[in-house]
Amino acid sequence: MTVPRFAMLDGQLTPYGETRVGLLTHALNYGTGAFAGIRAYWNAEAEQLFLFRPFDHVRRLRESARLLRMEVGDSDDNLVGRLVELLLAEGLRQDTYVRGLAFYRDEVVGVRLHGLTPSLAFVAIPFGRYIENIGGAHLGTSGWRRVRDDVIPPRGKIVGAYVNSALAKSDAELAGFDEALLLDEDGRVSEGTGENVFMLRRGTLVTPPVSSSILEGITRSSVLRLAQDELGLPVCERPIDRTELYLADEVFMTGTAAQITAVTRIDHRAIANGELGPQTARLQALFDRVVRGGEPRYREWCHPVYAHATAEIAAGLVTG
Ligand code: PMP
Repeated sequence: MTVPRFAMLDGQLTPYGETRVGLLTHALNYGTGAFAGIRAYWNAEAEQLFLFRPFDHVRRLRESARLLRMEVGDSDDNLVGRLVELLLAEGLRQDTYVRGLAFYRDEVVGVRLHGLTPSLAFVAIPFGRYIENIGGAHLGTSGWRRVRDDVIPPRGKIVGAYVNSALAKSDAELAGFDEALLLDEDGRVSEGTGENVFMLRRGTLVTPPVSSSILEGITRSSVLRLAQDELGLPVCERPIDRTELYLADEVFMTGTAAQITAVTRIDHRAIANGELGPQTARLQALFDRVVRGGEPRYREWCHPVYAHATAEIAAGLVTG
């Protein structure tokens, strides 16, 4: 992977090579940071790059930081403005991933959350697929349980908690699966290592509730709305047993990186006939149009980076 040209570090556009963190940095030693993963989608026809739901992402970053007793000082408007500034500097004309990181930068020894100094960084990199097998991933149920709220709150994207995801992800990949399925402490379905999980069963789209040790995913909330409003599917947030997933008609995962990834096998068992399901395929196609600014009803989720195309889109000249 080539490194980015710039970083937005504490509000300053800085050459990436000039950003340095010392070996004693608190977040590096104790995991005391929170991060964000935001996608920007390239629309070739409109020659526009759209940040997807950036305000929701910066809000979640702020909330994740607050769990670490860390205040992100800047307003949401300013933060999204900084993201745009960074993307303009990088000049990317392709699908892009923006990593945000709020972290304690003090170079001190002593594990705690108070009396420390936060830093906030954003970097952008070109990004395609995260899970190759988007049309039919194979999940393996992990022996690692998802961290729960009274251990490290999974509601926040807390750096240290991702050791839990990394343990499960490597075990799954090394065992030949595409992704791990983590159960919560009660043995119910929680989520993937970086994705929320959905199943379609008897006509209803079901996903675990926020109390099942999940991250409150932004793609998850987008899919709940699209399924209901555009596909007319009843949706329900309730606990899911592992074996319900085995018997589901369709299963998929959602995430900024994974987008909507169909799951066609779990633990070497085929989901239904083991092929990409029709509702999952419809949602994938709809989602791809939405994120590239092609669905006027959801245009407010898409934040244009390049100023020139905005007027054309508003005038309906370009539909994306
Ligand atoms: N769960 C976990 C553990 C994640 O890291 C992510 C990725 N941010 C998700 C779910 C999906 O969340 P989102 O759709 O907001 O990216």
